[in-house]
Amino acid sequence: MEPPTPTASTTASPPGGRWELGEELGSGAIARVVRVRDRIDGGVFAAKLLHPRHERDATAVTRFRREAELASRLVHPNLVRVWGADTIAGHTALVMELVEGPTLARALARRGSFDEAELLAIAAGLAAGLAYAHGCGVIHRDLKPANVLLAPEGPKIADFGMARASSFAEADRGALTVLGTPPYMAPECLDPLAVDPRADLYALGCILHELATGSPPFSGPTPFAVLEAHRTAPIPALPEHVSPGLRQLVANLLAKAAGDRPQSAGAVMHAIAALRDSDGMPAPAALAVRDAALAAAAGRCAGCGADVLEDVRVCFRCGLVPVVLERGRHAVLVLGPGRISDKLESSHRDRLVQWLRANAAVGFELEVLERRIPRLPFVLLRDVSELSANTVVASLERLGLESIALAGSPMDHPAMRAHVWRMTGRGFTVSAAVIMTPALAYGPFALALAPLVGVAAAISWGVSRRAAGRTTVRAESRARPALPPGLTRRLAEVGVAVGSIAQRRHREALGAVVRRVIALVRGTGRAATFEAAPELEHAVNLATVAARRMDDIESLMARRDFDPADFDHRALMQERDMWAARLLDLTATLDALTARLAAAQAHQQLERGEEMLASLRANVEALEEVREP
Ligand code: ADP
Ligand code: MG
Repeated sequence: MEPPTPTASTTASPPGGRWELGEELGSGAIARVVRVRDRIDGGVFAAKLLHPRHERDATAVTRFRREAELASRLVHPNLVRVWGADTIAGHTALVMELVEGPTLARALARRGSFDEAELLAIAAGLAAGLAYAHGCGVIHRDLKPANVLLAPEGPKIADFGMARASSFAEADRGALTVLGTPPYMAPECLDPLAVDPRADLYALGCILHELATGSPPFSGPTPFAVLEAHRTAPIPALPEHVSPGLRQLVANLLAKAAGDRPQSAGAVMHAIAALRDSDGMPAPAALAVRDAALAAAAGRCAGCGADVLEDVRVCFRCGLVPVVLERGRHAVLVLGPGRISDKLESSHRDRLVQWLRANAAVGFELEVLERRIPRLPFVLLRDVSELSANTVVASLERLGLESIALAGSPMDHPAMRAHVWRMTGRGFTVSAAVIMTPALAYGPFALALAPLVGVAAAISWGVSRRAAGRTTVRAESRARPALPPGLTRRLAEVGVAVGSIAQRRHREALGAVVRRVIALVRGTGRAATFEAAPELEHAVNLATVAARRMDDIESLMARRDFDPADFDHRALMQERDMWAARLLDLTATLDALTARLAAAQAHQQLERGEEMLASLRANVEALEEVREP
């Protein structure tokens, strides 16, 4: 079918106008779509006409114009082709390819749900369409079943009315408004600056969930409640009959943090293709990415419960720096609440165990404390630096526990001495009774046993002292193979930088890179000798710079005097765009690298790594360019 050339209508307009209006095909929030026939060549098309009530609405008109402009750049079998704008019956209209087929929403309403093979076929088409659009720098922002048409040859994404250029500098004001349809809106959508192509992938996850079950993953009585559910409610699992691979893919797409999702529609296409080839079993490469990410997490943040990496002592979600234990000569003695020689109250013990667990990234060993409830006072930690001991004391205070940091032997503390004497007294009374009972029964004969009482006293004292002095938790007992020294240094810098990044989103973006880097290095089993170490080190460094810079620029953008029309301000937005886009590319490249490494390992053919590293290098260099324009 030849594309209509809208300008032709002005030159050679047949009587009655070029377009013959046909029946209505569907209707959305701002427009209705009708079948039209081209009187010049008989071609049949679909035309989108603004609802009359919106014709004077500036926002609707802008949206319409943007759709014409953005969508007409996109030519792909899984996207509804838009030819351009024309005037039909006196109204501005968008002329599109006519898709004979219901919307996905209508098909869902009719059928309830889809079986896995059909679902995967639709998913593959949608992912391909998104990959193409994203590649052209366009984010859809309103992907949902009502905006997908099921053509006989496959699904086609329609309605780019809310789309925006992925670059802010290129976009108009509309790019900075909150848009979307709540059941399909990613958690970050409330912050327009945070929206990037990964928000479309989240929407795809919602659609796939709906195709499998008949309803989208989150619902609620009000739009706000739905948005809140996206942000905080646990991801609902798909039913058992859905294959493990598909369940995993949908869960990954629905990750709350964009950095935890597949990073590109291309990656999703690969995952879907692998699922279709392997009958729903997750591909080893896809699993490797996930397993590596899980392995890199070593505990939960004491502040917010997010995963904390053992190699970076900071929480990327809340920015909390957990307790770090350095070696030294200090000990922490817990004194209360409670009386000397009484057992610690179990509620306090539980709170303590919980806190220690939350700080698992530090490497506490809890067995002793979990097995028995210590008597007061007791030695919580030994051989840590003064600073570490003081941090622990401060944290314990918040838990309602009284403790002190001591240099030298905790056994010299008066409370500890009193405790030892009291326990010795108890032990002595018991042993003396045991020894002397026969003496009382058998008369002066047994007096020969009397010296034993002295021995018993000495033994009780020794035993009590040892019991009291036992360290209840041991720190840093887990030895981890060292990371390359350069990387260790970079990670220490990350720990410091995270504290200065105000927005959680940017901390998480940095965390996404760091987590992948660590997983990659640790996952190879040859951490210290990993060939890509210099590139990875550099990647971590640039990701740190990028996250900080984006954080700074956005805080400027949030200021009242920020004016997108101002030349300097526009340049800042452009810079922010570049950091964002390249950081995303870098994250995606790290995933691809992990997957390829896993595939290579699975096939026992460790390639030279050169080719694999080339793309990483290219990405790192691209980030360099942003820094040194
Ligand atoms: P809105 O921006 O108002 O949501 P849409 O572009 O989503 O408008 O179109 C509204 C409805 O029109 C769709 O849900 C679908 O039923 C129908 N429709 C849209 N585009 C086409 C097309 N190219 N071919 C056939 N039907 C279409
Ligand atoms: Mg629509």
